Amino acid sequence: MMDAERLSYHRQKLLDMKKELIEKLNEKYNEAIKLGTEGVQDSADEAYNIYNKNLMLGKVETDALKLRLVEQALQRIATGTYGVCIECEEEIEQKRLEYVPFARYCTDCKSELEKKGLIKM
Ligand SMILES: [Zn+2]
Repeated sequence: MMDAERLSYHRQKLLDMKKELIEKLNEKYNEAIKLGTEGVQDSADEAYNIYNKNLMLGKVETDALKLRLVEQALQRIATGTYGVCIECEEEIEQKRLEYVPFARYCTDCKSELEKKGLIKM
């Protein structure tokens, strides 16, 4: 079980992350809309714009997924299950939580699931 001090430390990190991600998503969203509505000069421009838009939307998707994971982690803090692997129910390594505060899996489960192509993050 994680002590209260550690828990609030991770909670603060997750809240900061959440704020940052929402800001980033809003920004990207507005950019993508702008690209879609700006006048297009010729087909090369259009191709470039479509390419750019897809690139951005891809990034938006990754950020949106991250935001979902951050929100789930905050929920696990609220319910007292934070820091426990949702696959094997072992405690997640402290070092891993330091790098990835929204981690759902321990290192072993994560690499196993990634190998099977079941998770992206
Ligand atoms: Zn595990």
